[in-house]
Amino acid sequence: MKLCSLKDIEVATLIEREGPQRKTRELFPSADRERAVEHFREMEPFLYLPASDRIYNTYQSFLLRIPGKTILIDTCVGEDKARPPQFMTYPKKPWLDAFAAEGLSFEDIDLVICTHLHVDHVGWNTRLVDGHWQPTFPKAKYIFGRIECEYWEAQVNKGNDLAGRIWTDSCLPILRSGQAELVEMDADLGDGLRLRPAPGHTPGMFCVSVTRDDEDKVMFVADVLHHPLQCREPDWSTGFCTDPVLAAKTRRELFEEIADTDTLVVPEHVPFPTVGRIESDGDRFRYSFPFPWWRPAGARD
Ligand SMILES: [Zn+2]
Repeated sequence: MKLCSLKDIEVATLIEREGPQRKTRELFPSADRERAVEHFREMEPFLYLPASDRIYNTYQSFLLRIPGKTILIDTCVGEDKARPPQFMTYPKKPWLDAFAAEGLSFEDIDLVICTHLHVDHVGWNTRLVDGHWQPTFPKAKYIFGRIECEYWEAQVNKGNDLAGRIWTDSCLPILRSGQAELVEMDADLGDGLRLRPAPGHTPGMFCVSVTRDDEDKVMFVADVLHHPLQCREPDWSTGFCTDPVLAAKTRRELFEEIADTDTLVVPEHVPFPTVGRIESDGDRFRYSFPFPWWRPAGARD
């Protein structure tokens, strides 16, 4: 499903799971509930469900098409993986259907970029074939952050169970097949693609920007922004951040850098139509959806 286009860049989403999910303080432990509710009142209705205090979050991959390359950014939870119950309950067919609806086969993906190695960003890296984990995209080069890999390897060595499962079934097979390229957090990937360091949510997370003519820009901001609420309250990091203070600093710096510009922001977990622009508002910010007309009336609420 199309999200946006800019010159010769096209961005589509492959949605694995969407809908209301966690309560405000489950996702943002430092949130002031009443202040949050005031912010939610000013936001689009597909972002928050007041009756049960549930925040809408989407799990999606982004399909980035530029001339000569088909690129996948982040790969959701995937299938057949031994994961905690909240991730096991998602049906996996919607993601596969969305992929097929783009007219693609797994061989068509040239590049897979994992912004970080959390459970919901690496799942479709591999599939279980005849009892073995195989790279899902046989011809793709996979981009992993070097610092991110080192951090998670250290976690595995410390006995972190979930990290061990993710590393073993979704990262190691890629490293062993020779398809992984470990890069620095500010790597230039060519074709106008550049990484931007975004530490805090995890130590090695990065954003991916695509620039045309030095100024027009689409920026995939990974989990810097889980929800537009964090534009109003940039200091509210999620309970899943390894360093919530650094995550907030990264968020504020990024917002200050791109606020009131034409940069199209593509955050991982913001519900469809996902793409937005950051607007400044004193020392806070606002998230605006520039393409609301692509959202069918009444859909997905
Ligand atoms: Zn995530």
